[in-house]
Amino acid sequence: MKSTSQPYKALPTAKKNSATMETLPKGSDFVQRLAVLTRKLGYEFSDLSLPNLALTHRSFDSKKNYERLEFLGDALLGMIIGEALYHRYPNQNEGRLTRMRATLVRQESLVTIAQGLELSNHLILGIGERKGGGRNRASILADAVESLIGAIYLDSQDMEITRHCVLAWYGDLIDNVNDQKALKDAKSRLQEWLQSKQFDLPHYELVETRGNAPYQIFVVRCQVNINNCPDITESGESRRIAEQKAAELMINQLHKLPAAFKKR
Ligand code: MN
Repeated sequence: MKSTSQPYKALPTAKKNSATMETLPKGSDFVQRLAVLTRKLGYEFSDLSLPNLALTHRSFDSKKNYERLEFLGDALLGMIIGEALYHRYPNQNEGRLTRMRATLVRQESLVTIAQGLELSNHLILGIGERKGGGRNRASILADAVESLIGAIYLDSQDMEITRHCVLAWYGDLIDNVNDQKALKDAKSRLQEWLQSKQFDLPHYELVETRGNAPYQIFVVRCQVNINNCPDITESGESRRIAEQKAAELMINQLHKLPAAFKKR
């Protein structure tokens, strides 16, 4: 294994198809930024068009953008995390491993990785998306992590290098995922808590949507059938995110209620 201070490079046998600076967008400071990115990623690209593509959002180019690389990176990430969990947790069953993998590859975790890699500075966005706060949009940051994994794999043609990069980005997140609380998303935890106390399942209702796509905000109300337990209304950039946030707050609220609950 190489020392961590030296970024991995494409193997000499990797297909050479390097983009020159001239083929990159005119006036782009991408090459200067690439040096910073290389250090963060721990990988030096041979084909510079790959990281360029991996960081290009569809708002900048509706055809040549990161979406195909994201598709590939998504599959690679699932495999890499799956294998790491398989070895790290020899006593966990398939169901538990599946939940751990879901926790590690979901948007919230990928945003944490993206923040560690400081990807927001490197995103190539259209003007509308830039003005709309796209640099810090969770979905874009998460996608960029996946597309960079696809890009590293295509550039290196080496699963081992790709794996080492990804596992280095995750750091101790894989060790810490074996924590009951982090294992399950808030909606599942709320449902299981209610079931364990023989209450009805929670009810989620879309209250309203604000704004126009792609900047829509979804407002969701979460209701449980328990006395003195007010509804929780939360908003988010997707219905799922709003529901998760509402469920999390509902769990906090339930834990503060007196021990004797009554059905409504
Ligand atoms: Mn994705």
